[in-house]
Amino acid sequence: MKREMGIARCGLACCLCSENDHCHGCNSGECPGSQWCENRKCLINKKIEHCYECDDKCEKGMFSKIKPYGFTLFAKRYGEDQLMDCLERNEKDGIVYHREGIIGDYDDFDDVEKLIEFIKTGARG
Ligand code: SF4
Ligand code: SF4
Repeated sequence: MKREMGIARCGLACCLCSENDHCHGCNSGECPGSQWCENRKCLINKKIEHCYECDDKCEKGMFSKIKPYGFTLFAKRYGEDQLMDCLERNEKDGIVYHREGIIGDYDDFDDVEKLIEFIKTGARG
């Protein structure tokens, strides 16, 4: 885990991303989504760094995917540090963020509260 890379604007975990050997995060413009990412454009307009700092009820762009949506909700509730603490512990316990391409163990959920519980505990309920 490259903890110093933190969490992307949309909630994805740059610190665990398989692209992070050549991408330097959202602000670098090197993320494959940087040209079209609706959340990134919205955040830049609002002059805030992360969707988890925003109070709007939002289903835009990346939030159609459960991983950035769940990670954002987690960081909103418990903070980015707590999110990275859990991700770091889970990684040590063998939970893989990107197993095949950009899909890994945090993607296979259809209930966001179950994903949040998985982040917290590292166990599937
Ligand atoms: S590709 Fe996107 S999620 Fe991955 S490190 Fe770059 S900005 Fe972060
Ligand atoms: S409105 Fe949505 S996309 Fe825009 S900053 Fe807020 S949470 Fe992010």
